[in-house]
Amino acid sequence: MFRRLIGRFVGGVGIAAVMLMALGAPAAADTYTRQPGIDVQQYIFRIELKDGTRAISGQADIDLVFKTDGVAELLLDLIGASADGKTGMTVSAVTSGAQTLAFTHEHNRVRIQLGPAAKAGDRRRVTVQYSGVPADGLLIGPNKHGEPVFFGDNFPDRARYWLPTIDHPYDKSACEFVITAPEAYQVVAPGALVETTSLAENRRLTRYREAVPITTYCMVIGVGRFAVETIGYVHGAPIQSWVYPSERDPGFADFRIALKPMELFSWRIGPYAYEKLANVQSKTRYGGMENASTIFYREGVVTGKGTNEGLFAHEIAHQWFGDSVTESDWDHTWLSEGFATYLTHVYNEYTFGRDTMVRGLRRDRESVIRYYDRNPKSAIVTPATEKLDNILSTNSYQKGGWFLHMLRRLVGDEVFWKGISTFYMRHRNGNALTEDFQRVMEEVSGKPLQAFFRQWVYTPGQPVIKGSWTYAAGVLTVELHQAQATDTVYTTALDIGIVTDRGAAPKVEVVQLVQRDQTFTISLDKEPLDVVLDPNTWLLMQAGEFARKPR
Ligand SMILES: [Zn+2]
Repeated sequence: MFRRLIGRFVGGVGIAAVMLMALGAPAAADTYTRQPGIDVQQYIFRIELKDGTRAISGQADIDLVFKTDGVAELLLDLIGASADGKTGMTVSAVTSGAQTLAFTHEHNRVRIQLGPAAKAGDRRRVTVQYSGVPADGLLIGPNKHGEPVFFGDNFPDRARYWLPTIDHPYDKSACEFVITAPEAYQVVAPGALVETTSLAENRRLTRYREAVPITTYCMVIGVGRFAVETIGYVHGAPIQSWVYPSERDPGFADFRIALKPMELFSWRIGPYAYEKLANVQSKTRYGGMENASTIFYREGVVTGKGTNEGLFAHEIAHQWFGDSVTESDWDHTWLSEGFATYLTHVYNEYTFGRDTMVRGLRRDRESVIRYYDRNPKSAIVTPATEKLDNILSTNSYQKGGWFLHMLRRLVGDEVFWKGISTFYMRHRNGNALTEDFQRVMEEVSGKPLQAFFRQWVYTPGQPVIKGSWTYAAGVLTVELHQAQATDTVYTTALDIGIVTDRGAAPKVEVVQLVQRDQTFTISLDKEPLDVVLDPNTWLLMQAGEFARKPR
């Protein structure tokens, strides 16, 4: 998703987390209680929405397969009734076929007794009947034009406010939404539209089926009055714009930009995973939220001036990374946000040229350095706090993006894109961790990358490089010092840019940093006018003082 500029505070890490990182070990998995004996195949949510009430009634059919023998319980996340009884969900019945199942609903978890113990490979459908007023997750209320709308806004673990699910990205599944709503409203949801039926009392049933496994945080609906346009097709998938009717003309104009990133990423990474892509003006709390095949953008996204191209590129990039290849653990959120951040830079590179990408990377580098000053114990892979309030950080976005940029430099363009594409195809519509990405990159590059990943992904911080240069008798001497306060000494290539002609691009000499203090000599037939470090913006470093040493 795209963080709003204001309103999101990013905290530090707990003591246990700091200790783990001090040992240099990859961070432990997040603390969500998993159910290894159960794999959800599909959710079918039947939900009735009415005007004039915030209450919903729902039925969830949960099709699951047992992965081990003897599983007796199913646990579902569902926020229960609040103390004052005004919000929350109440479960009225749980069944499996004709059989009624015993359950409890405490501490926002529905614990269901499955009856006769199952064998591995058995399938079962569990049906949960429930109703209530969602306190969050399904945003109900007027849009900026005062019209009634309903929007799911599930990230990261807010599906449980209105959908009984295993609400964690490790268990992806197909889903179907069967929505009954006043007939004046249109409905958008993940996947293909498979049914619209007029019902009595001016109601309509709309059914969408997402056959591709997705995360619960992507299982959303948008319901209200919309203007809808199909702007084109990418590999057979229609690309649609959904905007508020009173913003039809500027909205359609702005949203047509979506074709460009769809085409670029399909070509660069691999085939798009879903049946369609709807870009939807919505009430999401985020700047944009990448729900699989159904991206929700903030209400203010429509300007009529095409000013949100980067936002579209970011959310569309998530369809490949985040949605199709999903981190199986919140600690690895950078596999979603770092990829979307870097792919937006790549979109800028292809669309506007390298200078635009470099400007973005330099901005990001400044943010990473500032963030590190306030959060010196936090790395790209960082243990998620229980409230998940630290997963969307400058580390998962900008530093994750910068890591990919440096990896691209290390292995070269061709191998980098082969690796990105291979990683996508191997984990498409599934899950992955950082070590899976490392493995793919090692395979395609033929290089061991353990130290590179450890230094940049699992270790907080970046090098602070300072030094000086002199020139005498045809020899340029460059003295460099790694001045970071930590014990880490970085091993990295560094470009030394030698300016011998005003106005011309610097000549680049690549040196390898392996020690805290190093001196490099370079033969030059002409005295340089200036010497600069990293002229082409390839290294995530904090630049210390670097100048000609006074003679
Ligand atoms: Zn994002």
